[in-house]
Amino acid sequence: MITVIVPPFLAHPAPNALCAESDPDLWASEDRPGIKEAKKICLRCPLVKDCAQWATDTREPHGVWGALTAHQRERIRTKRATPRDDRRRLIDSLIAAGIDAQTLARKAGLKHKTAVNYLRLWRQQHPEAA
Ligand code: SF4
Repeated sequence: MITVIVPPFLAHPAPNALCAESDPDLWASEDRPGIKEAKKICLRCPLVKDCAQWATDTREPHGVWGALTAHQRERIRTKRATPRDDRRRLIDSLIAAGIDAQTLARKAGLKHKTAVNYLRLWRQQHPEAA
């Protein structure tokens, strides 16, 4: 049996939740077009802010909520949880350990492009490590 937890902001009667008027499978999409379409609808939804907050705070592991994917919510949580200096030290230590950009992005809560830039900068500053 699957237990569905209804977020408090969606308690009945659900006030203007645009996903209630659309195909619910769209919010569980794993392909880019489906995710993009769900996000587009979320961005027009009056509940988007509460929804994103709820899904991030409750560590909702699946689906698009409040126009955010699970990966984006995880990145937000990581950023919130790690003070700036600690994060910089974490990034430096991960790079020094030889981590790749994708793993760096995931572990440090960075966008992939930012992780690539950190790696490039670090290699310029530490040519002996290359
Ligand atoms: S923001 Fe998106 S997932 Fe959240 S209630 Fe609105 S349409 Fe549904």
